[in-house]
Amino acid sequence: MTDTGKNRASRIRFPRPLTPWGFATIAVILSLGYFAAELLGWREYAGFLSGTLPADGSEFRAVLGALYVAAYFGFVLAVPILLIAAGLFALLLQPARIAKVHVWIWALPWTLLGLLVGLIAMATGGRGRSVAGAIEFYGGAIPWLFARLPVGPSAMTLGHVILGRTPAALDVARDHELVHVRQYERWGPLFVPAYLLCSAVLWIKRKDAYRDNPFEREAFDSSSQRPGRPHCP
Ligand SMILES: [Zn+2]
Repeated sequence: MTDTGKNRASRIRFPRPLTPWGFATIAVILSLGYFAAELLGWREYAGFLSGTLPADGSEFRAVLGALYVAAYFGFVLAVPILLIAAGLFALLLQPARIAKVHVWIWALPWTLLGLLVGLIAMATGGRGRSVAGAIEFYGGAIPWLFARLPVGPSAMTLGHVILGRTPAALDVARDHELVHVRQYERWGPLFVPAYLLCSAVLWIKRKDAYRDNPFEREAFDSSSQRPGRPHCP
């Protein structure tokens, strides 16, 4: 074997069987085998199972029929199982990604509300974009909506959605709002009730229901933004 040949051989790497790519590769090979058997018309030889082999049938045709049946069951049974196994295996091998999926699901109720507002904003001339693991919307109906909220915020977080009056308002508030995104990931559906409960207790104690709120204090402490125009939560 020449050096060139050796290099070429070392470049060709087949996926190891017990990996997500290995499972997916086997699934693809089984699928191609089934489609090939179908295209070659081997299905008609599968009648040997019910004893209806063509009158001029030979053992060779019975073998083709058996191969077709094997390819068929490989396709309808093994391929789905292999693909599911590949998906689960891929998730298990990447715990960080599982953790991310988990926090997105946990915050999903508020994210869906944010997406609904975002879609209304988009339908009324607003824009959307993906920034730093969150989805931002601005413009459209958002300034109109914010003007009707008690504190008249410039930006607001709902789950993994950050809503802003303008792109500039989002740029200023982003670090602060991303702390709220992390809070939604920790508290999930309980975040807004917990936030409002804190504000209510502070209001009863005659303190600032916004700036003294522990969720806001964490957001202001963790970001470079100083308490200015309210961002809620
Ligand atoms: Zn805030």
